[in-house]
Amino acid sequence: MWNLEAIRREFPILGRTVAGRRLVYLDNAATSQKPRVVLEAIRNHFERSNANVHRGVHRLSEESTEAYEGARRVIARFLGAQGPDELVFVRNATEAVNLVAHAYGDRHLGPGDEVLVSEMEHHSNLVPWHLLARRTGARVRAVPISDEGILDLGALREALGEGRVRLVALTAVSNVLGTRNPIPEVARWAHEAGALLLVDGAQAVPHLPIRFQESGADFLAFSGHKALGPMGIGGLLVRRDLHDRMDPFLGGGEMIREVTLEGATFADPPHRFEAGTPDVAGAVGLRAAVEFLETLGIEAVADHAMRLGTYARRRLQEEVPGIRLLGPVPGPAATGSVVTFDLPGVHPHDIAQGLDRRGIAVRAGHHCCQPLHRRLGLVATTRASFHVFNGEDDVDALVEALVEVRREMTAPAAGAPGTARDAEPADALFREVVMDHYLHPAGREPLEQATVEWEGRNPLCGDHVHLRMRLEDGRIAGLQVDGEGCSISVASGSMMAEHLRGRTLEEARRLLSAVRAMFRGEPLPGDLDLGDVKVLEKVRDLPVRVKCALLAWTTAEEGLDHAGAEVPRTAGEVSDGHA
Ligand code: PMP
Repeated sequence: MWNLEAIRREFPILGRTVAGRRLVYLDNAATSQKPRVVLEAIRNHFERSNANVHRGVHRLSEESTEAYEGARRVIARFLGAQGPDELVFVRNATEAVNLVAHAYGDRHLGPGDEVLVSEMEHHSNLVPWHLLARRTGARVRAVPISDEGILDLGALREALGEGRVRLVALTAVSNVLGTRNPIPEVARWAHEAGALLLVDGAQAVPHLPIRFQESGADFLAFSGHKALGPMGIGGLLVRRDLHDRMDPFLGGGEMIREVTLEGATFADPPHRFEAGTPDVAGAVGLRAAVEFLETLGIEAVADHAMRLGTYARRRLQEEVPGIRLLGPVPGPAATGSVVTFDLPGVHPHDIAQGLDRRGIAVRAGHHCCQPLHRRLGLVATTRASFHVFNGEDDVDALVEALVEVRREMTAPAAGAPGTARDAEPADALFREVVMDHYLHPAGREPLEQATVEWEGRNPLCGDHVHLRMRLEDGRIAGLQVDGEGCSISVASGSMMAEHLRGRTLEEARRLLSAVRAMFRGEPLPGDLDLGDVKVLEKVRDLPVRVKCALLAWTTAEEGLDHAGAEVPRTAGEVSDGHA
């Protein structure tokens, strides 16, 4: 029997409010919340047993070592490894994949060899292979997916059949689509083709029963923090008989047997792959998380995600006009633990922020899956992701809020809950001004005879500004701002159009640098009136969106810098350095 109320009581963070409402946390695929037992295990470790492991001949060091190695035993058993020696502790799934790329890849791959990935991989399971390819001359090749988000198994087998694949690196569960890939079959086909299989288990370990040995996988990478454990600890399972086919990854203390000034011999795995002082408290916390999941029953955890995902998809589809749900329906092909969608006409940043104002946490962006988004013809999406403490009431809150946000972003109804009237005055003014510019942007009229044309992009969210200016006698005589983006980026472009038109180049530059200074929180020249642009200062409360607000201004600055160059030219991107 799934006792949601009892489970919720175990998560202290659910007791807090956000924006005056109950916290509805739907960002578990990024990181899950932690139950009390995990927090207590970490605290207890530091309060009672903290000491460095393996080397000390004193009580605390022995206790700490036992806590660390005991955690290894429990977690390895939970994941169906042959023994604790198959579990290497790392910081996270990313480090686990990098470890394999270096320790195995550097030794065994060379020019002409291939690493086979898929179009649905997280950047963590792509970039380490790109880097390996650079080091070794091997090639990264991707198996396509269907429009529904299902791996093309025929293409995978064909690629394997060509005989150049040495390693298949595949996610067990997609962090965007929830798609489940058939790991045992892929393992069999990979082995028949003489390749090994690395499984990215970052989204599978938190929700599905994993039997590493039975699955046939050779490596399995995961992060503890998505599975109710703390950040900073994760694991790499390595099939025992591969240990001697791998070189050490990082060198240093803990991983050696004997060191001379000329060289070293190495400890047995898994310690060979764990250089330096480990995150003992992290391992202890992850053990507690695993035991918590075991108490609930990992099959029941999987069923819960499936039920919730199914419910969420049905309600969203029925009640949010125009919504496009991504990925396969929960069942054998998908976990249900993530529900990702596109809402045409409403930017994911605006959705996430509108939901945040109602106490609901979701994620907006490319979710570290840019190739997948490109494949789906989208730049950014919105993702709600569940864990054991979520219930249908969370989904109900999401659906209700999403309907409101959609209405607000297409035609704001004054006084509707969550719109300007229930906010504090500065926030209300900000939203009123932004929405006014967003829905009726200035500067859209076609401009004749542009002398400068420039583009700015924010690859994180797909915001894009196309700027055309006509410079005459040292003035901006005409200006047109086009493009696509969230409400803040569009509104900011609209304000800029109003402020720059007719200015001398010197005035324009002064204004542009004042706006930049405003976003850095620096004082403005006393004689400069920024008018309604001043309300954008409020964006500083939301640091990730400063880039949205700056995009048009940066584009104009770069356009002026390049005035006189050939038309059209494309600009660089808004980078962190701009804010
Ligand atoms: N792979 C997948 C499928 C993921 O969802 C994530 C995290 N979003 C990662 C890898 C990387 O995890 P971490 O950042 O904890 O290394």
